[in-house]
Amino acid sequence: MHKVRIAVVGSGPAGLFAADELIRSDNVEIEVDVIDRLPTPYGLVRYGVAPDHPRIKSVIRGFEAILESPSVRFLGNVEYGRDVDLDWLHKHYTAVVFATGASSDRGLGIVGESLEGSIAASELVSFYSGHPDCNFVPEISGNAVAVIGAGNVTLDVARILSKSVDSLATTDMPDSVIDALRRSSVRTVHIVCRRGPEHAKFTTKELRELRDVDDVDVVIDPSDLACVDVEGLPRTAATNMKVFREIAEAPRHRDRKTVYIHFWSKPVAVTGDNRVTGLDIERTEFDSDGALVGTGRCEHLPVSMVIRSVGYRSDPLPGLPFDSVRGVIPNRQGRVVDTDGTARPLTYVSGWLKRGPSGVIGTNRMCSAETVGQVRDDLARVADHLSFSEAGAVDESLRSRGVSVIDYSGWQSINDAEIQRGVDAGKERVKIGDWQTLRSLGLART
Ligand code: NAP
Repeated sequence: MHKVRIAVVGSGPAGLFAADELIRSDNVEIEVDVIDRLPTPYGLVRYGVAPDHPRIKSVIRGFEAILESPSVRFLGNVEYGRDVDLDWLHKHYTAVVFATGASSDRGLGIVGESLEGSIAASELVSFYSGHPDCNFVPEISGNAVAVIGAGNVTLDVARILSKSVDSLATTDMPDSVIDALRRSSVRTVHIVCRRGPEHAKFTTKELRELRDVDDVDVVIDPSDLACVDVEGLPRTAATNMKVFREIAEAPRHRDRKTVYIHFWSKPVAVTGDNRVTGLDIERTEFDSDGALVGTGRCEHLPVSMVIRSVGYRSDPLPGLPFDSVRGVIPNRQGRVVDTDGTARPLTYVSGWLKRGPSGVIGTNRMCSAETVGQVRDDLARVADHLSFSEAGAVDESLRSRGVSVIDYSGWQSINDAEIQRGVDAGKERVKIGDWQTLRSLGLART
């Protein structure tokens, strides 16, 4: 049987599902190096899934089994574009699968967007997830904030900002994050959705979770729900409508924190001189052509922070084509294609970098299976020319470039330290959020 080594760049769900699919191939023996710029694996599961969602994070147990397979190696602290390039990858690997996800934010293009206090949800998520690249502590000093967008990231952000800090203190958030949240004086969160309740991208489970946060009232104007015909709506939209109606009918309580969901409202300007002091929103509707338009009816929300949660986007990767409109690498079922439609030999993409930022973690398994199907077809076509690159040659080349790889045992050393910090604090784990400590722990055992 032929034997090949394949590089997967990115150790989030798409990358690890791709690695898993690759090593299950029948007619070619595949060894996989999973390369990541961070010293820690798991991508958005570690740095995107909300800290109070441990059940979703438990998918990591399956990912550990993949990284512990004898056919898979983790090469952390290796950055594509800085430490290695496309030529290097193609020299050392038979094929390369890119799965670097989508971690940049999208802008709104409105006045005041760059004022201090106007931030992307991705920044707040990185902050509360203890991402080592995050070097800012949001000033959550006013008593009201606005979150723009009707997706699940908005629900995560609204929940984290309104939940009691004591309930968050049991999560793996670094102590510095808990301390910053304790200083927060937020009592009101405005969620601003540019279309109607039936168009919201929330999933029902996450919506119910926001509804059920202790000591928080969620408020919806019943008139926004009145003329929605549930008949014929997609299943999630129909079940969401049921929850919206329950929310709208629920009694309100004095002295509780409040999350307002404003439908049919688009942001038009962030106000303030140097810092955010408010957000102007305009009522929207569909015109006779079905286009979403402003009605001219405006409202001012006095808020000290505006968080845009309007979707992520991928960044271009050096040496690869990029579709800047869709924010993805152009591809056919995972095969990277140039602008003239020609497939790049033995170069593939998977996950959000391939299809854009949508779906849940499991969606990436199907996405990676499709990509790996293309890899297998291509390997079968070039079977007579396949050669195998030894792991030692890869390691030697990285060493000669001055790259300090943090391998799986290095990650385990970080993992053990986080668990120990958790034991000391009476919880499961406390994340380490700085590069220096992560690197020194990871390199000590690698
Ligand atoms: P998303 O689901 O795509 O939602 C983005 C929202 O932003 C949409 O409501 C969109 O409205 C709105 N938007 C876009 N441009 C806008 C603009 N210029 N002005 C106002 N609103 C604008 O994105 P996401 O919330 O970042 O989530 C990304 C993916 O991760 C999703 O698949 C999500 O389900 C998943 N996720 C899942 C979980 C979970 O399962 N617990 C948690 C977090 C994220 P339109 O619809 O009108 O475009």
